[in-house]
Amino acid sequence: MPKKAKACTRVSGWRTAFFATTFCALSVCAGGAYAQTRQNNAVAPNATTNTPSTTTPTEHPEGATRIILLGTNGGPILSLTRHQPASLLVVGKKKYLIDAGEGVTRQLFKVGVLPQQIDDIFITHNHLDHNAGLPGLISEAWFYGRHRKLKGNLPPINLYGPAGTRQVFDGALESLGVSARIFDSGLSGGDLTMPAKMFGEHDISKNGQFFDDGTVRVTAVENTHYHFGPGSAAAKAGDKSYSYRFDTPGGPIVFTGDTGPSSGVAALVKGADVLVSEVISPKEVKTYIANYGISEADAKKLAAHMQAGHLTPEDIGRMAQDGGVKTVVLTHVVPPQQQYTNAAEFTAGVKKYFSGDVILGQDEMEYDVYAKQH
Ligand SMILES: [Zn+2]
Ligand SMILES: [Zn+2]
Repeated sequence: MPKKAKACTRVSGWRTAFFATTFCALSVCAGGAYAQTRQNNAVAPNATTNTPSTTTPTEHPEGATRIILLGTNGGPILSLTRHQPASLLVVGKKKYLIDAGEGVTRQLFKVGVLPQQIDDIFITHNHLDHNAGLPGLISEAWFYGRHRKLKGNLPPINLYGPAGTRQVFDGALESLGVSARIFDSGLSGGDLTMPAKMFGEHDISKNGQFFDDGTVRVTAVENTHYHFGPGSAAAKAGDKSYSYRFDTPGGPIVFTGDTGPSSGVAALVKGADVLVSEVISPKEVKTYIANYGISEADAKKLAAHMQAGHLTPEDIGRMAQDGGVKTVVLTHVVPPQQQYTNAAEFTAGVKKYFSGDVILGQDEMEYDVYAKQH
């Protein structure tokens, strides 16, 4: 979308464009207008011919990289203004989904992407706010792409995540299997590609690079979101939470997922152009917990989890500055409810320590990272 980018300020040799952001007034950068255009141009998905929408980011210049925040809510608590966590990374014609919170399929559709157009899905961890949208996403991807020709140029959609992701995926497939059987036995006369052949799952068991498709390389680092007792069921199952670094033609981008302060994540962030980070506002969380209606003991436990397993704006600012990051995009906003989401409350703390650009994410916000200018 070069037109949109031209209207925006050049930052550190990049042309950037995003909705409702620091650099561009909405009207100039076409945040509202562009969103409207996208909706006006949206092509009704064609369930029978698997025709891709013409308004998807496939129009993106080759090699250019776009981050689309699909859901910026933090935690399973529902919000009217933020969907649960999911981000789309578009590099040229490739589309990578990071997390799949409830509502992700609808959010993809809103930004012009049909579920079967996703190439790969990366789950950071298996808290339900990050994976509850998988069954719906897999179901719709199968429905729209059910004639997907696996011997042709459409490979399965692959899912990557920590131990436990396979269990979630298998459950989703099993659930979908009943409906797929009914569809296949009906009008289709038994010629549909069954769900199990349309998807692949890969558990990530250790830190390091685990993905390279020739367009992006993805590296995982276990972070400090979880603090299980050694004998707990989750510890025994090997449940982990990962942060991911995507090395793209536009530069390195790190998605923290959910994490507390972590030396591993700090190392992963080094040299990243964009840091898409979770964030909590300790002040607003305190108010939120006080109004939450839980016992004092439970409130203390929740506050301790928030402190150890999440990042404050100051934590993010220090990590971004030390890592030489250029832009911080805040997502997974806690608390998510609008009455607690004062942008300055979130960005000021980051800016205390970080001299680059800071953006408080909103659902459907887009950020373009063009190839570096030479
Ligand atoms: Zn979360
Ligand atoms: Zn979590």
